[in-house]
This record gives sequence, structure tokens and C-alpha cells, in this order.
Amino acid sequence: MKRRNFLTAAAAATMTAPLAAPPVARAQTSFNWKMTNAYGPGSPFYVEGPGSPTDFCRKVEAMSDGRLRIQHFAAGELIPALEGFDAVRNGTVEMNSANAYFWAGRLPAAQYFTTVPFGMNFQGQNAWLYHGGGMELWDELYAPLGLKALPVGNTGVQMTGWFREPITSVEDFRGLKMRIPGLAGKVYATLGVDVKLLPGGEIFPALERGVIDAAEFVGPYQDRRLGLQNAAKYYYTTGWHEPCNVTELLINKAAWESLPADLQAIVQTAAMACNLESYAWCEANNAAALKDLVDNFGVQANVLPPEVVAALKAATATALEEIAASDPVVRKVHDAFMAFKAEHDGWTAIAEKPLYNLKA
Ligand code: CA
Repeated sequence: MKRRNFLTAAAAATMTAPLAAPPVARAQTSFNWKMTNAYGPGSPFYVEGPGSPTDFCRKVEAMSDGRLRIQHFAAGELIPALEGFDAVRNGTVEMNSANAYFWAGRLPAAQYFTTVPFGMNFQGQNAWLYHGGGMELWDELYAPLGLKALPVGNTGVQMTGWFREPITSVEDFRGLKMRIPGLAGKVYATLGVDVKLLPGGEIFPALERGVIDAAEFVGPYQDRRLGLQNAAKYYYTTGWHEPCNVTELLINKAAWESLPADLQAIVQTAAMACNLESYAWCEANNAAALKDLVDNFGVQANVLPPEVVAALKAATATALEEIAASDPVVRKVHDAFMAFKAEHDGWTAIAEKPLYNLKA
């Protein structure tokens, strides 16, 4: 017994000895970085909360034992909301959190790394990014600009949006004034919608006063926070326009390459953890918020009529083809995305779809 104790103690001493040595190599490499954000102070998911960008900064600092500290600035705290792309490019900050489709004006292919109407959900988008060639294409698109990106969050499926009057046919879109950004706005416009671009904070007053007839934002939790249930009662589902929505962690490529391999691994792993945790947070909160909206605010949550969905789908295919035809880089990303999606849809039809039907 005594002998075994002695051996255990000796083994423990051997094991702990290297840990007691002064961490010389660690002390030589510490980094103080800045991260800006396209979303305002206090925004749940986009700035604060589990799996958010500020949580990412905390995770990286903890995992690196303080060797990589990232100071976070919400929109307006260091630079205006949508200037993160240039700030990271010119090295003013090392990182920015936003959505890649905000840069679609100068980089039309960026849309595919956030979401594509009638594209893929959280599972499919991540399958494409991590294991379907998506990350390689994202790197290829950004490397010439001195940038690198990682997925760092996802809202999951969004909602079609809020309408003051029910939608019974495609004709109801004609002349409808709707707040809807991005590619989906282009699609609605081809069906006669008068598309309005409003920042999140202006949606509620515009919808309440009838300046707009309909609006899209995110999903039940975020939409309830804006009070949209008090301005319209018809809440259509599902997010044909945004089957998921990737939060982009944009990184200055030279800064990224200056990090030792272990800190790069920590950044990648923390980003991946936030991608999952933010999604889980949204799923949990949306479930409770939707129930509250229906039970306590008289909200009617319904799917769009099938012929309306069919018209949106056809208009989306035309719009995507037009964009792909306009630019060889978009064509390459578009074709890769669609080839992966076609294969993934086949698997989804066999596995996920019957599973959902079993639950219903
Ligand atoms: Ca949205």
C-alpha cells in the first residue's frame, strides 16, 4: 500500500513538473486586438448573449489564457455600422462582426456566404462551408482583398415577415410597401412589391403608421423585441428568403497570419463554438417567443399559400441567374453552392423531411 502511494506520488510529481516550469514561450506572444460590429450596443445575439461576438472575445481570451485579447466595439462606438469591411482591410481593427451580404454591393458573391433565398438551412449551409468547399471559395474571394472570414454565428431559419393584411395570392404583392433587404428584396420587386430599406429601429414606427404594409426582420424573439406584433398581426412563415443567416467574423489576413498556430486554432474553435451556441440560443428563444406572440398578442402565424411560394421560387431562380451571369466570380460560387445544395437536398428529402413529417 505504502509502495503504491509512493509510486503514485512519484508519477504525479513527474507529470506536474513540466507545468511548474515558467511559461517562457507564452510570455513572448501576446496580442491586443480590436473588433468592430455592424450591430448596435446591447443587441441580443448580434452583440450580447451566449455565442455572440462579445462572448467570442471572452472565449478566446479564456482559451488563450489572455494571450489574445480582443476589445469589442458595437456599431457607433468606434466606427459607423457598415464601415467594418474597410476598417479590417486597412488594419484600423483586426476583426469585424457582420453579415457578408452587407458587402454584396461591391462583392456580389458575398451573398452566398450569408444565405441564399430557397437555399440551405443551418445544417446544409454549415455542411457546405466546413466540408463542401464553401470555406475555400470564401477564402478565394477574400484573399486578394487581404481578408479572411469565418462563420461565427447563425440565426437559423428566419420568418417571412409581418403583414398588415393577409396574403392570399401573388396579386396582393402588387404595390405592397415592404421593408426587406438584400436579394429577397430584388425578388419581391419583380412581383410588384415596393421595396423599402429601413434600419431595424425604424421598422416598428413605419409599420405602425402604415408608411409600410409589411416588414421582414429576423424571427420571433428579435421581432417581438422591436414590437412588430403591435403593428401587424399576420406573421408569415417560413424563411424562404433567409433559410439561415451566417454571422461573419471578418479578419485582417496579415494579422491572422501573424498569429501562432495555437492562437489560430483557438480563434477557429471559438468561432465554431459560437456558430453552434448562437444557433441553439436562437432556437430556444424563438420557440418561447412564437408561443407568446400567438397566445398573448393575437398573432396569426401561417405559411404562405403554395402558389405564392411557387411564384417567389420562380422569381428567385431568375434573379440568381441574372446575378450569376453578370460576374464570373459569382458564377463560380453560385454553381458550387447549387451543386452542393442539389446533392444535400436529396439527402434532406430522404432523411430530414420524413423525420419532420413523423413529428407533425
Ligand atoms: Ca432578415
